Amino acid sequence: MLTKKVEKLLNEQINKELFSAYLYLDMANFYADKNLDGFANWFTVQAKEEVSHANIFMDYMKEIGAKVVLEAIAKPEVEFKELKDPLVEALKHEQFVTASIHNLMEAAIEDKDYRTKMILDWFVKEQIEEEANADELINHFDMIGSKGIYMMNKDLLARVFEEPTFTI
Ligand code: MG
Repeated sequence: MLTKKVEKLLNEQINKELFSAYLYLDMANFYADKNLDGFANWFTVQAKEEVSHANIFMDYMKEIGAKVVLEAIAKPEVEFKELKDPLVEALKHEQFVTASIHNLMEAAIEDKDYRTKMILDWFVKEQIEEEANADELINHFDMIGSKGIYMMNKDLLARVFEEPTFTI
């Protein structure tokens, strides 16, 4: 059974996923401004992924007759100076999202909401990948230094968006 508490947390999670998209678009714009189209592409694809995460939650809520409430999306506040800054922020942000998903999971388990738990199982796994991807970008960046940024930019240009394969 969906409780009011879990319903509220699900709506907050939708907002966090959409804010994530906003944040990653901000990062994409930062790189586009520096003529790093590959880095910009990577974060644009990431933003699309975040919108698809929000859609999964919304589809689920509509399916079970829960009320979706879309609140205002906050302005991305972090100022980026160095090329590495968005990469570090992205990892920090994904760690924050992971904590939020885990918190939702705890509430679902506490309320014996096994349907929501099933949705969250996918997200728990997804967050492992999200953190690993962000961590990998930082590691690559640190390894190559400024000379390799051109090559890394070319690599990141190859990323394409694939809709997550998740069905309720
Ligand atoms: Mg997400």
